Amino acid sequence: MFVTYKVISAGVVVRPVDPRGTFRSCPGSGHIDTRNRSTRDDFRGVSCGLAGPADYFAAIDIGRRAVCHVAGDAA
Ligand SMILES: [Zn+2]
Repeated sequence: MFVTYKVISAGVVVRPVDPRGTFRSCPGSGHIDTRNRSTRDDFRGVSCGLAGPADYFAAIDIGRRAVCHVAGDAA
């Protein structure tokens, strides 16, 4: 399934994101491997050892893919 939507809110521009692969992509190292997902709920990066809730890491990965620009980011 391809998630297609565009939201402009609070200066954050969101672009369409293809969620395929997020369940096995490591947010720490970017390493993609089906073995990263040890169980349905648990994630453990085989490359870097990063471990935690699988859904949480998938959300981080999707968020990184989605946000391409933050207005006012001139600090
Ligand atoms: Zn990793």
